[in-house]
Amino acid sequence: MKCSLCASKAIIYLSYSESFLCGKHLSRLVEKRAGNSMRRYGMIRGRKSIGVAVSGGKDSQSLLCIMHKLIGKDRGRKLSAVTVDEGIGGYRQNSIVKAKQLCGELGIEHHIFRFSELAVPMDSIMEGGKTDPCSYCGVFRRWVLNRASRELGLDALAIGHNLDDVVQTLQLNIMRNEPQRIARFTPNGGNADNPGFVPRIRPLFSIPEREIVAYALHNEIPFHNGECPYARYALRNPVRNFINDMEGKYPGIKFRMLNSYLSVLELGASPGYERMGACASCGEPSSSKTCKRCSFLSSLKRNI
Ligand code: SF4
Repeated sequence: MKCSLCASKAIIYLSYSESFLCGKHLSRLVEKRAGNSMRRYGMIRGRKSIGVAVSGGKDSQSLLCIMHKLIGKDRGRKLSAVTVDEGIGGYRQNSIVKAKQLCGELGIEHHIFRFSELAVPMDSIMEGGKTDPCSYCGVFRRWVLNRASRELGLDALAIGHNLDDVVQTLQLNIMRNEPQRIARFTPNGGNADNPGFVPRIRPLFSIPEREIVAYALHNEIPFHNGECPYARYALRNPVRNFINDMEGKYPGIKFRMLNSYLSVLELGASPGYERMGACASCGEPSSSKTCKRCSFLSSLKRNI
């Protein structure tokens, strides 16, 4: 098949726009969408030191390349990469290799923070017979990332969430009745009211996952393609399957889900959120007396 915009061979079909794109036009589309989102939502406006959370997977590696392309030559801004090692044997070490490789190729400063020093390694948690690893992993990762970002003096931390991640997360938060998390889930991370909280921005939030995969492959971006051994426990799996099934039957439904949420935000009708205070145990930003990381550590009977 030929690209709908030129005579080159197409590498992807976009069912929501009934078009075929070659690698060059797909790359332009992906970078344009990321750039437009950053401008529209003021993701880096007034922010000088920007971090990118890099796991070594396709999304974060692509995000690092795109951010490097868009702001890497801006002398007024500094770009650095932050990786969290959750302590998942046979998995995370391999992806960290890819993260290191890309940071080296782009000349970007790279920092690694470990659950073994700041939380509890996931393998140890699973040895304890837990069946909901992603709850622990998510809470600990967000805690580690925020503290790391603050220590590094970052004004914002870019996360590689793509359109699929965002609509799955919104759906999950609705299903769990988590209005505070829905309210905080903004493209530019601007909803935080605690100076200890480093805003998380999501430049890829309007780009479908399969377009990021095609972007990474076409641009020969190194990434780790393995799956976390604990992913099978995630509640996200059936939600992902359901939304993908709906997208297959009704192309464009992911965009419509995202746009519904953004419209609610723009109408100012998003649910209110509690002011963020500080955790009584670790002092990190928290909307409850004790943050979830410290509650989890207490339930795991660990002190760090
Ligand atoms: Fe962590 Fe779950 Fe992701 Fe594995 S699948 S890295 S346990 S959140």
